Amino acid sequence: NAGRRILNLEHSLRAANQRNRILSITDALTGAYNRRYLMEQLPRELERCRRYAYPLSVLMCDVDHFKRINDVRGHTAGDEVLQQFAARTQKSIRSTSDWVARYGGEEFLVILPETSHDGALHVAEKLRDLISATPFATRNGDCAVTASFGVASTGPNGPEISLKVDKLIRAADECLYQSKQEGRNRSSGQEVELTMTLKALG
Ligand code: GH3
Ligand code: MG
Ligand code: MG
Repeated sequence: NAGRRILNLEHSLRAANQRNRILSITDALTGAYNRRYLMEQLPRELERCRRYAYPLSVLMCDVDHFKRINDVRGHTAGDEVLQQFAARTQKSIRSTSDWVARYGGEEFLVILPETSHDGALHVAEKLRDLISATPFATRNGDCAVTASFGVASTGPNGPEISLKVDKLIRAADECLYQSKQEGRNRSSGQEVELTMTLKALG
């Protein structure tokens, strides 16, 4: 009996640890990974792509005029939009390798390992279409939503030795800013290494 009790205890401790681990890396509102997981996992992803010489792409997505959605429909409806935004995104990517993290309020990062720049631009456009094509159902009525995208990728043969995660995220952020400047509901992208090499060549 004592042995069985110890085994049961061990089993429930393991289960509790597992639940805590999931809670600590998940965003409570959307179920996407949180920023902590992103900053822990993305460097590993980059390392893996470097080792195997695969490209890596990151999409930064930001809901357009989200403040207006909150103002018009209320904060709770805004929350529902964020939940559905994450769900739509999650559904449209490869579940075995791609993943989504909530980067900030209404900003998400989609990580696409083994995906070239052309492929990533294609994913961004597919996502953009998926968001804008069907209104989001909220408790305060249907709500048309669009989002802007910034796509940053390594070269086709994987990350150069000097490339850091921050640089890739910064590049995606710059492209997102460009999409916003050019009128929103669009995607812009850059291949990071290519820009670095071109700069080096003057
Ligand atoms: P832009 O098209 O330039 O991105 O405009 P925007 O209104 O989306 O951007 P802005 O940064 O001005 O506003 C973002 C808003 O998102 C402001 C903030 O109150 C809201 N927000 C942040 N986190 C949450 C959240 O968890 N739930 C809800 N409902 N709103 C949030
Ligand atoms: Mg924002
Ligand atoms: Mg926004």
